[in-house]
Amino acid sequence: MIRKEQIYEGKAKKVYSTDDPELLIVSYKDDATAFNGLKKGTIAGKGVINNKMSNLMMQYLEKKGVPTHFVEELSDRDTLVKKVSIVPLEVIVRNISAGSFSQRYGVDEGIVFDEPTIEFSYKNDELGDPLINEYHAKALKIATEKEIETIKKYAFKINDELKNFWKGCGITLVDFKLEFGKLSDGSIVLADEISPDTSRLWDSETGMKLDKDRFRRDLGGVKEAYGEVMKRLLENI
Ligand code: ADP
Ligand code: UDP
Repeated sequence: MIRKEQIYEGKAKKVYSTDDPELLIVSYKDDATAFNGLKKGTIAGKGVINNKMSNLMMQYLEKKGVPTHFVEELSDRDTLVKKVSIVPLEVIVRNISAGSFSQRYGVDEGIVFDEPTIEFSYKNDELGDPLINEYHAKALKIATEKEIETIKKYAFKINDELKNFWKGCGITLVDFKLEFGKLSDGSIVLADEISPDTSRLWDSETGMKLDKDRFRRDLGGVKEAYGEVMKRLLENI
């Protein structure tokens, strides 16, 4: 597959066109950002880990019946994916209180919910990804009712599958962010990535944070935490 030209450079990945208009190459960088780009840094080897982890997770989810953009891992950092039109919603599923949820409602981190929750943010860096509800998403024609229903169904299914998978690795899945996109036939597939950049993962025994919060909160041992998650994933997949 020929990598043609860079069409986008995001905070964590670069995106290239290919000689097939229906396919793209995503290339994972070591760059890390937090707080809407205010905090910047690099995590050596992160791109390699996130590429591999995301691909393994997407293949796992495909087997469980969730359609994804994954096509083929091309190298350590590069993956061939189906080109989608991204639905500009960050879909966040939570099992346990943390991060912006704890801040917004003034509650401790670590409250285990009886049922998972879902929320949407409007994916728009200039506006700082504001929270959005389904009515507003429909009013703004960001997604139709049917698309939102499909996205919610997949998001909860993904949560069930990933929670169970990580449990087997001695890791608690606290929360995570998903992005979905539309293929040329209009069908919805999981896109973007699933990694410690986009999920909160706590060691089930010790509660140690094994995700990007180590970077966000200057806890140290960021690279080691990503490596530990990858090691456990490879032992259990
Ligand atoms: P950001 O844009 O938030 O800085 P990244 O650095 O991860 O994020 O950039 C990757 C970009 O590619 C994101 O905007 C994401 O929505 C987009 N993307 C992910 N998967 C696909 C896909 N299959 N087709 C088209 N765009 C995609
Ligand atoms: N998340 C993400 N990208 C974002 C915002 C959140 O991947 O732009 C992930 C984050 O890593 C966490 C979950 O979504 O796993 C919930 O994040 P939260 O809303 O608590 O936001 P925070 O304030 O911590 O970024």
